[in-house]
Amino acid sequence: MAAITIQNLTKRFGSLVAVDDFSLTIEDGEFITLVGPSGCGKTTTLRCVAGLESTTSGTVMFGEHDVTDYPVQQRGIALLFQDIALYPHMTVEENIGYPLKLEGQSKEQRSERVRDAAEMLQIEDQLEKHPSELSGGQQQRVALGRSIVREPAMFLFDEPMSDLDAKLKHELRPLFAEVTEKVGCPTMYVTHDQEEAMTMSDRIAVMNDGELEQVGTPREVYDEPQSSFVGEFIGRPNMEFFDADLSRQNGTMDLSIGDTAYQIATSEALAQYEDGNIRIGIRPQDISVSSEPDDGLTGEHVFDETLGDQTHSLFDTPLGRLTVVTPPKFRGNGQQYGLEFDTNAMKAFDPKSGLRI
Ligand code: ATP
Repeated sequence: MAAITIQNLTKRFGSLVAVDDFSLTIEDGEFITLVGPSGCGKTTTLRCVAGLESTTSGTVMFGEHDVTDYPVQQRGIALLFQDIALYPHMTVEENIGYPLKLEGQSKEQRSERVRDAAEMLQIEDQLEKHPSELSGGQQQRVALGRSIVREPAMFLFDEPMSDLDAKLKHELRPLFAEVTEKVGCPTMYVTHDQEEAMTMSDRIAVMNDGELEQVGTPREVYDEPQSSFVGEFIGRPNMEFFDADLSRQNGTMDLSIGDTAYQIATSEALAQYEDGNIRIGIRPQDISVSSEPDDGLTGEHVFDETLGDQTHSLFDTPLGRLTVVTPPKFRGNGQQYGLEFDTNAMKAFDPKSGLRI
């Protein structure tokens, strides 16, 4: 097994550029998730890597081999889609072993590999059943089993869990990560669900409008978004954004957002940025609430969403409606509250390009 290298991949459908100059290396054993909103080009990228779609330009390398023009059958990959498509007339054992049967392996040869896969997926007691006798989660395990028996060069998953309920997703997420780690080949997983991406991946590749916006560990893309798009797409509740005015006096960086003034720490990039308009992002986790408002930003409490381990509280402020992550037992009373931003946690973006400053 070897790393997968995608270089300058572009895919056009007529005049539409679905994937635009996309480059990424997925290391051997690495789990990378492509994430982004509907239509941003995730599936097309995956299909080009799989060989299900031709590329307009660019190359796909499996290790040292240029596979750009190989048909899907010659790439030795394991594909898994939302549509599970098990063979209904075959047992679980026959379904999992089917790729090996196609390779001409005998029943005895297949049996051991199928049992190993079934054990890894905790479905060894289901081997005699037919798909119709299984739950959705068990069916997905069988499909995963069928994709791992051939020791693939790469795993490609396209929203395999989007039809499953939240509880099943929670059960299957660690299983996907564990199984792909055991098999040890590169994995590309496509989802529009940022939580799925955050919890399963070694690295996340965030796509926007055909382009790769940022690649990094879940922590990196959450803590250091390189654009306002990434800041908004990754992390819940969504990052809040404000138009602000930046000015410098006597070595301090002064920000005004609405009627409130803040002093922020300077950085090399900020020091070079011109005074004037700037876009500030802050996570609802980095806003604190005080029942004794001072002359800073205030907001009228609107609603609390109780989640058990935390509360999401909504406030109407002169800057618009803001979400704040408040302590688990916080209950607002419809009054005015003071809302304080942690200035160290503020992210500054160029209002025109959306890029991080
Ligand atoms: P989703 O999460 O909704 O599946 P996605 O990020 O996977 O979206 P793609 O399916 O890759 O996005 O689509 C990217 C763009 O390419 C979209 O504008 C889509 O309409 C277009 N597209 C995809 N496949 C084709 C095709 N076969 N012919 C023409 N346009 C296509």
